[in-house]
Amino acid sequence: MSEERLSCSFCGLNKLQTKILVAGQDAHICDQCIEQAFSILNHQNKSEEISISSETSNNLTPKSIKSFLDDYVIGQDYSKKVISVCVYNHYKRISQKIDLNDNIEIEKSNVIMVGPTGTGKTLIAKTIAKMLDVPLAIVDATVLTEAGYVGEDVENILTRLLQASDYNIEKAERGIIFIDEIDKISRKNDNPSITRDVSGEGVQQALLKLMEGAVVNVPPKGGRKHPDQNFIKLNTSNILFIAGGAFDGIEKIISKRLNMNAVGFKNSKLKSVVNSDQIVKNIIPNDLKDFGLIPEILGRLPILTFMLDLDSKNLRKILTQPKNALVKQYVKLFEIDGIKLTFDDHALDYIVKKALDFKLGARGLRSICESILIDDMFHLPGTKTKSLHVDKSYIKNKLDGLNFSGLKEAS
Ligand code: ADP
Repeated sequence: MSEERLSCSFCGLNKLQTKILVAGQDAHICDQCIEQAFSILNHQNKSEEISISSETSNNLTPKSIKSFLDDYVIGQDYSKKVISVCVYNHYKRISQKIDLNDNIEIEKSNVIMVGPTGTGKTLIAKTIAKMLDVPLAIVDATVLTEAGYVGEDVENILTRLLQASDYNIEKAERGIIFIDEIDKISRKNDNPSITRDVSGEGVQQALLKLMEGAVVNVPPKGGRKHPDQNFIKLNTSNILFIAGGAFDGIEKIISKRLNMNAVGFKNSKLKSVVNSDQIVKNIIPNDLKDFGLIPEILGRLPILTFMLDLDSKNLRKILTQPKNALVKQYVKLFEIDGIKLTFDDHALDYIVKKALDFKLGARGLRSICESILIDDMFHLPGTKTKSLHVDKSYIKNKLDGLNFSGLKEAS
C-alpha cells in the first residue's frame, strides 16, 4: 500500500494528517489515539488506587488504628486514643452516603495537639498517613503570612499536599495536612493597634477557610498568587487537618483558671498538682483562646488533645521498640556493610541518661547515637571488621570530648 493511503485503524486519520503512525501487524495507530489510550489507562490506574485506599479505610476500627499507632509511637496513650477515634470518624464521614431524609451531616473533626517538641506529634500524623496510605503535607505555621505580605500564602499548604500526591487531585482531597507550630501564629496581644498582625491573627483568619472546607484555587508550583497564573481547584472538605504546637507557658494559664474556679480559695486539688504533665491534662479550648488562638480557629479544630513529656522509661523504649526504632535502623545500616552491630543494655540506658541530662528529649536520642557511631560509620565500611559491640565505656569515650551545645540546637 502506498504511504499516503495508510490511515489510523482507530480514528481513520490519514497518515499525512498525523505526526506519527505506528504500524502493528494488521493495523496502524496515530499519535493522538496513543495519547488518548494512555490517558484512559492512567485514569483507570488512579481510580484503582483510590478504591484500594477506601477499602483499607473500610476495614478500620478505632482499636485497629490505635494498635497501628502503638507499633510506632511510644506512650502518649490518651492522644493515640483520641486520634484513633477522630481518624475513624473522619473516614466514616468521607464515606458517608448522603441521606437526604435525615439531613444530618457529620462535621469535620480536625485535631489540635498540645505538647512539648519532640514528643511525637509529627510522628503521629506521619503514622496515620502511612496507615491510611494517603498523602501527607507537613507545614510550619511560622512561615505563613496573610496574603500580600512577605512570607508564604496559606494556599501554599495545599500546593505541598498536591506535590505529596503527585498532583493527583482526588488523592490530595483525601489527604492529611499537619500544621506544626500553630502556637507561633497566636494573636499578639501587645501588638500596637496600627500595625496589622499579618503573621498571627491574619494567618489564623486565612486558615479558617481551608480548614472548614472550601474549593480553593491552588498555585500548582506554590509561590505568590498572580493574576496570569493557572490554578488547580482543590476541595478541602475531606482533608483532615492536624495542628500541633508546644504552647510554652500554657500550664500557667491552666493553673490560673483552675485556681479561679475555687472562687477565691486555693483549689485544694491543685495543691497536689506538682508537675506540668498533670496540669496540662486539664486543658480546655478556652486556655488556647487565652494563649492567643481566635475562637473561630478553635471551632475548626474541635478535637483537643495533649502530649506528655517522655520519661526515661519511654525514651528507652523509643530506642528499641518501635517498628523503625533507632537501634534497629543502625543495626540495618551496618548489616548492609556486612557488620553485626550490637548494643549493651547499659549502653542504651546511658544514651537515655545523656538525652535527659542535656534535655534533648526523643530527638536527642538520634543526635547522640549519630555522635557515637559516626567514626565507625566512616571507617568500618570496606574493612575486614565484621562486628561492633557498643557498651557504656565505649559511649563514654565517644561522648566525653563532645560539646553538646550543637545538639541542643539541633533539637
Ligand atoms: P514533635 O512533632 O512533637 O515536635 P516529632 O514527632 O517530630 O516531635 O518527634 C521527633 C522524633 O523523635 C521522631 O521522629 C521520633 O523518632 C522520636 N519520637 C518522639 N516522640 C516519640 C514517641 N512518642 N514514640 C516514638 N518515637 C518518638
